[in-house]
Amino acid sequence: MLPARLTSQNALFLDFDGTLAEVPVTPDAVNLPPGLPAMLHRLYDRLGGAVALITGRDISDLRKYLPDFPGAISGSHGAELSLDGRTISTTDDTQLDIPALHAAAHQFARGYPPILVEEKRHGVVLHYRADPSLAEVVHAAMRQLQRDFPGTGLQAAKMQVELRPAGVGKDKALDRLMELSPYRGRIPVYAGDDLPDEVAMAEAQARGGIAIKVGDGETVAHYRVANPAALAAWLDP
Ligand SMILES: [Mg+2]
Repeated sequence: MLPARLTSQNALFLDFDGTLAEVPVTPDAVNLPPGLPAMLHRLYDRLGGAVALITGRDISDLRKYLPDFPGAISGSHGAELSLDGRTISTTDDTQLDIPALHAAAHQFARGYPPILVEEKRHGVVLHYRADPSLAEVVHAAMRQLQRDFPGTGLQAAKMQVELRPAGVGKDKALDRLMELSPYRGRIPVYAGDDLPDEVAMAEAQARGGIAIKVGDGETVAHYRVANPAALAAWLDP
């Protein structure tokens, strides 16, 4: 079941992978729905610009797929924010030795060929989609890396675990945007598909807004759609 249509009183916050596009097999194998860029432009116009993307990807990475998206983009689970053509870091992780973190992740993964290491500006991700039986091994390794690199936080998601700066999160990304025009004063609508979205969905609902879970799995969201295509059909009928 879904709520009635979006209105001009809403501010819309959208995750990317699994929400607007199907979850890719590897991070760079994105299969962008052909109509997506135009749909985001229509929503942007309809909502007076109050449309933002809140993704776990680095902003520079997301821009490869949506170079002309006109709204704000919060990237790296809220560690960076792109507004009006400028990208700022919203976390102080300068004490964090990111190259050393990447190197440590690669060193671990060399023992497990199915594991894919994704280097990010503000952290590192280990993907085990190629062999889901490695979940426990990967989680244990990341817990150890978290101890070795103070100031990092663990973020589990579908077939992956990430170390990112401590204290960031998609809920805080939503809070930050809700302070700004044109989002401020509107009723938030958040759609996402994965664990990192749950805090933001809870936050949207706590603000009197709407949360929509895309796909299967437990969720705090009061609404659910089956897949990105069904979400798009509701957003842009
Ligand atoms: Mg997602």
